[in-house]
Amino acid sequence: MGLTLGEGGTPLVGADRMSERLGCELFLKCEGLNPTGSFKDRGMAVAVSRAVEDGVRAVVCASTGNTAASAAAYAARAGLLAVVLEPEGAVASGKLAQARALGAKVLEVRGSFDDALDAARELGSRGDFALVNSLSPHRIEGQKAAAHELVDELGGAPDALALPYGGGGNTRAYFKGFSEAGALPRFVLGQAADRAKTVASAIRITAPAHADAVQEALMATSGVVVTLADAEILEAWRALAHEEGVFCEPASAASVAGLLKRAAAGADLSQSTAVCVLTGSGLKDPDTAMTVDAVRHETAARVGDVERVLGW
Ligand SMILES: *Cc1c(COP(=O)(O)O)cnc(C)c1O
Repeated sequence: MGLTLGEGGTPLVGADRMSERLGCELFLKCEGLNPTGSFKDRGMAVAVSRAVEDGVRAVVCASTGNTAASAAAYAARAGLLAVVLEPEGAVASGKLAQARALGAKVLEVRGSFDDALDAARELGSRGDFALVNSLSPHRIEGQKAAAHELVDELGGAPDALALPYGGGGNTRAYFKGFSEAGALPRFVLGQAADRAKTVASAIRITAPAHADAVQEALMATSGVVVTLADAEILEAWRALAHEEGVFCEPASAASVAGLLKRAAAGADLSQSTAVCVLTGSGLKDPDTAMTVDAVRHETAARVGDVERVLGW
C-alpha cells in the first residue's frame, strides 16, 4: 500500500450566483476537502513516500501553515519525524494546532516565511532531512493530478483557471498537468498587493520560489496576474460564504477576487467556463473569520427576546 490519507478526488461544484455576477459558468474546486484541509496533501503524499524510500531521518519544511499541517500528517503515517519552521506569530491558529496535534516538531522562526525557507533548504541539503516544500519535484508531481481531474470532470480544460499566487508551486503543478493533458486554460493568478503583510496568510510570501515557472505558464496561456488589496480578497471570501455556502480560507478567495476584478475591469468572460481553485478550508483560520464578522448577538433564552433581536 502506498502512503495515502485519501487525498484528491475533491468536489467540483457549480457556483450559480457568482456565475451570474461574472457572466460566465464558474466552478469551484474545493481543495479544502483534502485530508488535512488543503491541496498540499496531494503533493505531500508523494514527497513523504519518497523520503521514506530515501531513508532519511526526518522531513523538513518552511511553512505559512498548511504545508506544515500536511507534512505532519503524512510523516506521522510514515513513521517519520516532521520538523516544521513557521514564521513566528504569522500562522493561522487552525494550522498551528494541526501541526502540533499531529506530532510535528514545530519551530517558530523569528523572521519571515522567506527566512524560514532559506533555513529549511539548507537543512534539506544535508542528507538527514528531506525537504518537502514545493521546491521538491515530488510535490509538483503529486499536485498536478488536480489538473487531470479537472480535464476528466469537464471533458477538457476550462477556458480560465484562477488560483491564488503565493510561491507559485501550485501554478507550476497545474501548468504541468494541463500541458500533459494537451489542454491549457488561461491562468488567472490572484496575488496580494502587500505580500509581506496580507491577511491571506497562506500567500504571505515575498519571494515566490517558482516565479520563472509562473512566467512560463502566463506566457503560454496568455495568463494574467491580478494584484489584490486585502479588502478585495475578503470581499470575495465573504461572497463565497454568503452566496455559495462555501467557507474557504482567505488566501483561497484570491482566485475568485482575481476573476471578479477582471470582470469589473471589463474583461469579457461570457460564453466561457472558469474554475477557481479554493486551496484551503475556512476552518484553518477562525480568527480572521471572527474578526471580519465581528458582530455578536446576545439574547435571553426566550422567544420574545429572540424575535426582538431579529427585529421581527
Ligand atoms: C500554499 C497555499 C497557497 C499558495 O500556493 P503556492 O503554491 O505557494 O502558490 C494558497 N492557498 C493556500 C490555502 C495554501 O495553503
